[in-house]
Amino acid sequence: MDMNSSYTATRSFHVMTKPIGPLCNLDCTYCFYLDKEKLFPADENYRMSDEVLEAYIRKYIQSQHTPELSFAWQGGEPTLMGLDFYRKVTALQRRYAGGRRVHNSFQTNGTKLDEDWCAFFARENFLVGLSLDGPAPIHDRYRVNKGGAGSFEQVFQSLELLKKHRVEFNTLTCVTRQSPDEAVEIYNFLKSCGVTFMQFIPIVERVGDLTSDTVTPWSVTSEGYGQFLCRIFDEWVQGDVGRIFVNLFDVALGAWCGQ
Ligand code: SF4
Repeated sequence: MDMNSSYTATRSFHVMTKPIGPLCNLDCTYCFYLDKEKLFPADENYRMSDEVLEAYIRKYIQSQHTPELSFAWQGGEPTLMGLDFYRKVTALQRRYAGGRRVHNSFQTNGTKLDEDWCAFFARENFLVGLSLDGPAPIHDRYRVNKGGAGSFEQVFQSLELLKKHRVEFNTLTCVTRQSPDEAVEIYNFLKSCGVTFMQFIPIVERVGDLTSDTVTPWSVTSEGYGQFLCRIFDEWVQGDVGRIFVNLFDVALGAWCGQ
C-alpha cells in the first residue's frame, strides 16, 4: 500500500474492512471464510498495523467528497483486534473527517462483547450486525467454537447487552438446509428477543472445484430458500409491516414502488 499517494474518486464508494483478515474464534461448520488463511504466508500475523490503519482512514476520507462517510468492519471476527483498536479508529476518523459525519457498521459473531464494547458502540453510534441463527438448538447446530461447543449462550448475552446500552443493531441469520421447516420458529424467536431489523442469508457452499455442482449437506436448496422466505413473509405481512424490517422484503418493496 502506498501510504502517501492521493486519490479523489469521481463517485463515492464503499469498502469493507477486515482488520484481522480471516481469523475467528469460532469454527462454524458452514464457514467458507476460515479457509482463506491458506491464501496468506505461514508467518502472516493478519493484524492491521497502526500505520496502515491511519493511512487507510485518511485516504478513504480524503478520496471522497460526500457529506457523510461510511466504514464497515468485518472479519473473521473483528472484535479480535481488541477495543483499543476501535478507539483509535474513531479518534482518527474525527481527526481526518473535517466535521463530516462518519458512520461505522460492525459485523460480529457476538461471542466477545461485554459492557465496555457495548458502551463504546453506543457512544460512537456504531451499527452492529449480530450473527444469530435462532434459538439455541438451531443456532448451536452449526455455530460452534474450536472445541465444537455451541456459541448461543454468549451471543444471547451479547444481545441483551446491546439492548441494555441501546446500541443500534440488526441480526444476520444463516439459512441452511433445515431452515425452511424452522422458518416460523426462527422468525418468532428473533421477534421475541426484540430484534426489529433482520437479514436472512442463504448458505450455499460448493464441494470441490469450481466445475462442481455438488453442495454441502447443510446448503439450502433454491426451493428451500424460497419456502423459508415465503413462510416468514406470511408471518410478517399479517401484523409486522412497519414494525419489523426484513432486509429482503424492504428491498423488494422498494423496487416494487419504483425506488
Ligand atoms: S463467526 Fe463467521 S467467520 Fe467466524 S467461523 Fe463463524 S461464519 Fe466463519
